Amino acid sequence: MIDRDQLSKLLDDERATFAARNPRSRAAADAARAADLFGGVPMTWMAKTAGGFPLFFDAASGNRVVDLDGHELVDFCLGDTAAMAGHSPPATVAAVAARFAAAGGATTMMPTEDAAIVAAELSRRFGQFQWSFSLTATDANRWAIRLGRAATGRPKILVHSWCYHGSVDETLIVTSARGSASRPGNVGAPCDVTLTSRVAEFNDLDGLDRELRHGDVAAVLMEPALTNVGIVLPEPGYLEGVRELTRESGVLLINDETHTLSAGPGGCTRAWSLDPDIVTVGKAIAGGIPAAAYGLSAAVVEQLAARRDLDLVDTGGVGGTLAGNALSIAAARATLCEVLTAAAFDTMIARCERYTAGVERIIEIHGLDWSVARLGARAEYRFVKPAPRNGTESQEATDVELEDYLHLYLLNRDVLLTPFHNMALMCPTTTDADVDLHLDVLDAAVTSLAGRR
Ligand code: PMP
Repeated sequence: MIDRDQLSKLLDDERATFAARNPRSRAAADAARAADLFGGVPMTWMAKTAGGFPLFFDAASGNRVVDLDGHELVDFCLGDTAAMAGHSPPATVAAVAARFAAAGGATTMMPTEDAAIVAAELSRRFGQFQWSFSLTATDANRWAIRLGRAATGRPKILVHSWCYHGSVDETLIVTSARGSASRPGNVGAPCDVTLTSRVAEFNDLDGLDRELRHGDVAAVLMEPALTNVGIVLPEPGYLEGVRELTRESGVLLINDETHTLSAGPGGCTRAWSLDPDIVTVGKAIAGGIPAAAYGLSAAVVEQLAARRDLDLVDTGGVGGTLAGNALSIAAARATLCEVLTAAAFDTMIARCERYTAGVERIIEIHGLDWSVARLGARAEYRFVKPAPRNGTESQEATDVELEDYLHLYLLNRDVLLTPFHNMALMCPTTTDADVDLHLDVLDAAVTSLAGRR
């Protein structure tokens, strides 16, 4: 369908435009490469950029980012969900200032009263759980896995192929023609991942059943819809089937709601009346300040309490000096109670419905073999039709050159998508006009691709 020569030429043009319009970012990137930074960036994934060098930013507010060269970008990336509340939401800024500057103190090894309020708010949203905090969703998942193993006395966890739950060793496993295998590119694995983990395709209850029958799985760690290999939605009956199979086999179900929080105030767990044993959630809950949480059901808490041998207090493997610090918790309280409210979700979801309908129109008008999936306030287009049913199908639809072209075309016209996929997320201040800008620019990008302009 797509003329690859035309695509390659257009991509070169967009790269040239990107370089010409961002001289200060380019100079900053050159300076950073010459500095003592591993990979020339603060974190290696920041080097993944369609334009050849990272765009540096100067300021961000709501759904706007101003880059170093002064372009004001309409931000649909929103820190890959971490800024779902919008950048620097005023209520969170006020809470952070009140805690850190006015009252003073962030990290004392003592609790503040905010934590109980945040826990109650999380339970109101996700259901009754006993909550504990970490700074990242990765750590929330690590600790949920450890506690799951401790509670059940079983060694392995099961995840979906091409899932992403952070840099958690046990989750870097995929299905392959040769059976379960380490995810390609896995850095410094401590052991063969099949010793610690099992894997099944999303939407495949038979596959899940087969794996759980081994009797060695402590917990299934899953997103209720995959969001890190495009969005793959559950088919009718799939999530109910997962819950039945896990219950039957005494396996804990951990819902990672870090991204799927986009479905509503209590993520998919609330929106779809799911009943997990453990919930993990991170990124967005403190409005951009590092914070994450994991909630344990009463039954899991009871199982853990029965294990008198566990060191849950000192160096037993569930810890983090800065976890639950007063600043993160104050930010989480303000963000959850005042910014990411039910009313805010209603607005964000309505915007995303407009976005998705517009993308569907573009796909249809141009006769593209693409599909678009929406999960509440987030949507993503994928270069395959019908929409993929599992991680492997979705992964196979990756087209790096096409993705780079679309990202750069949009970026050169002040629209920012998530660098790792074609994901767009709405925050409380995203407007219909912002959505329409993305649609107009996407339409123009696709029109150029067809050689009609
Ligand atoms: N869970 C999910 C579903 C994620 O998408 C991610 C990161 N993209 C994580 C966990 C890890 O988050 P963090 O990198 O903030 O630890």
